[in-house]
Amino acid sequence: MRTRFRGVTRREGVLVRGPAGWGEFSPFAEYGPAECARWLAAAREAARDGWPAPVRDRIPVNATIPAVGPERAHALAKESGCRTAKVKVAERGQTDADDMARVEAVRDALGPDGRVRIDVNGGWDVGHAARMIRALDRWGLEYAEQPCATLEELAAVRRRVDVPIAADESIRRAEDPLRVRAAEAADVAVLKVQPLGGVAAALRVAEACGLPVVVSSAVETSVGLAAGVALAAALPELRYAC
Ligand SMILES: [Mg+2]
Repeated sequence: MRTRFRGVTRREGVLVRGPAGWGEFSPFAEYGPAECARWLAAAREAARDGWPAPVRDRIPVNATIPAVGPERAHALAKESGCRTAKVKVAERGQTDADDMARVEAVRDALGPDGRVRIDVNGGWDVGHAARMIRALDRWGLEYAEQPCATLEELAAVRRRVDVPIAADESIRRAEDPLRVRAAEAADVAVLKVQPLGGVAAALRVAEACGLPVVVSSAVETSVGLAAGVALAAALPELRYAC
């Protein structure tokens, strides 16, 4: 990979071909068998069974801005052509000032009517999250994704800030969204196809959780990304569309 992402500079996976098309199996290297089995189920669905019918034929997408310097962040947001950007923050080894400069640069690149989301990947504690979300919201945040690691922390941050909270890492298994809802920990559910075991499984999770859904990806090839598009196309509602 050209830019380090999620601590990774090299991504490995397997592409499988079946009667329904191509599927991707690309769990992260540290995952165990139980987790990998769901990723394999997603690849098998894509290759063998195919996906549920779409209900729309256009899917708006966001640019993802990695933890780069402000000039590079500005250029990436501008060149993307997207009206929404998800900005990675809380990268290990960087400072709050780095995050502020990056978000400010992306807001500047998108203009006042663009949408800016941040993704913290669970990197802050409750106090830090509340402080930083308030500070970064001066540039207007659509939502803050996984500001802290645990559901209890997410719920605590959600009570302390006005910016909507999205749960990503907190949702990796089919039963997780129900926990997120019970804990009142998030306003938005970020769903990824491979960890949830396929498009049909992710649709069931979306229905069960009752929260607006944003579809995301797991640093995949275009084959894996296509499954995410299929999920976004089949969801009854896309409230966080740009
Ligand atoms: Mg995320």
